[in-house]
Amino acid sequence: MNQHIHGQVVILGAGPAGLAAARSACEAGASVILIEREHRLGGILKQCIHDGFGLFRFAQRLTGPEYANRERTALQQVIHNVSTGNATANSLGKTGEIPGLSTGYPQHGLTILTKTFLTSVVQQDRRTYLLTCVNQEGMLTITAQALILATGCRERTDRQIFIHGDRPAGIFTAGLAQYMVNIQGVLPGSKAVILGSGDIGLIMARRLHLEGVQVLGVYEIQNEPSGLARNLRQCLEDFAIPLHLNTTVTRVHGADRVQGLTLVRVDDQQKPIPGTQFEVECDTLILSVGLIPENEVARSLGVPLDRVTRGPIVDQSYHTLVNGIFACGNALHVSDLADYVSESGDIAGREAARWAMSESLPERNLVPLEGSREFLYVVPQRVNTNLDVKPILHFRVRRSVDQKSRITLSAEVSANPGAIKDSPLAAAIRKKPFSSAPVEQPRHSSSSLSPVPIAQKTCPVLRPAEMERMQVSQTVPSHAQVLHLTCKEVP
Ligand SMILES: Cc1cc2nc3c(=O)[nH]c(=O)nc-3n(C[C@H](O)[C@H](O)[C@H](O)COP(=O)(O)OP(=O)(O)OC[C@H]3O[C@@H](n4cnc5c(N)ncnc54)[C@H](O)[C@@H]3O)c2cc1C
Repeated sequence: MNQHIHGQVVILGAGPAGLAAARSACEAGASVILIEREHRLGGILKQCIHDGFGLFRFAQRLTGPEYANRERTALQQVIHNVSTGNATANSLGKTGEIPGLSTGYPQHGLTILTKTFLTSVVQQDRRTYLLTCVNQEGMLTITAQALILATGCRERTDRQIFIHGDRPAGIFTAGLAQYMVNIQGVLPGSKAVILGSGDIGLIMARRLHLEGVQVLGVYEIQNEPSGLARNLRQCLEDFAIPLHLNTTVTRVHGADRVQGLTLVRVDDQQKPIPGTQFEVECDTLILSVGLIPENEVARSLGVPLDRVTRGPIVDQSYHTLVNGIFACGNALHVSDLADYVSESGDIAGREAARWAMSESLPERNLVPLEGSREFLYVVPQRVNTNLDVKPILHFRVRRSVDQKSRITLSAEVSANPGAIKDSPLAAAIRKKPFSSAPVEQPRHSSSSLSPVPIAQKTCPVLRPAEMERMQVSQTVPSHAQVLHLTCKEVP
């Protein structure tokens, strides 16, 4: 059966980012459709039964399922407050989710579609996106003014890190091993090596150890661990699981099942050191070698991506460079904390609703935000100076900085703002008829510009593994040309 529904805001993915986005878009008064391919809401949190979630958002130490439940309950609360008591809200209250196609499509409220797969999305006209989905009821088309991508991330696999040798049974990504142990109740093996010291690998080292698996060690190619300091302590040190830095797996042995691995020590350029090879006997290799934002949909819509984060380039409202498409959570950049993911959903949902409900399309004036060489990346990568939203910055450094560091955000503005107002660029922007692309400021010679500090933060230690957050409490000057994030050691 073919059906058609319309939502002002459509959200793809119902992990913590999508749930928060749905709540805030509903709160802002938009009609919202939340699409999830799995049969339950909550995303990856459903399988994260360890605690450590919610310290920032709820000031409590929650497990993943508890955190997801808080977000689901908050969504349910808002629907009860905002909507007119529709069937969707009632069903959500009873079961937490609605399998397949929910009945009734309220004008102002929320429709949740679980077990629903997106097959295509195209821009229908300058204000509308057309999505085609399929679920147990058949085909479904959905139109939307704004689309929020909250699709999470995926794990890198052995193919992406070029391990030689056989491909027997017994090689798992850490997330898959977690799903097997925590959801399916089966063990992946009895003697395991963990490759990669990201948080999921550390958490799985402890989890497997607690379930009786012999965990031989965590091996990391880099010269410093890539997981959070608290996970190193609580998952490895507390259980005497060894961490070997500057070491990697080069070959897998085994015909039907993994029988062993060849490992080698590497130098600081990650090149194998001759004569340092050794073999380890095991039946399981767990890979925790990185996460990549899930961005197939963004790509299909021509959304420009950041080559470092591998998520969309966005402004401070998490609006991508394609009008009407927003991104949040791990689909935008991989976060260590679900709390930050939810915060990005709050903002994306509210701002997407504002965009979708505006009568005429607001013009966006985007200026670049750049980090100095200490920074691996900064999100957002642009600031829309026409928008009254104060940016929240997330950044990672390239290398550890142990000394106290002062992070400063400054805006480069013309000494004479009037000069910009009357510039040929400003005139061109004013004359520009509506187009689907926002206006991007071209580069200016810095000689006519002066930096104005607009935010500062002191960090005791900066590590690549720990993402930092910085709230900009001052409004970005409307005539800013470029924003700079710099890092200085505090003497
Ligand atoms: C093993 C592990 C341990 C972690 N431990 C902690 C911790 O201790 N503390 C902490 O704060 N954080 C932790 N995190 C991080 C946190 O869980 C994540 O940052 C957060 O869950 C990401 O939320 P998200 O909504 O962006 O993505 P996800 O939770 O991945 O949700 C994305 C959702 O989108 C759906 N989806 C994707 N594509 C489509 C599509 N095309 N159509 C429909 N639906 C789609 C997926 O099915 C999924 O439900 C951990 C993460 C992992 C993986």
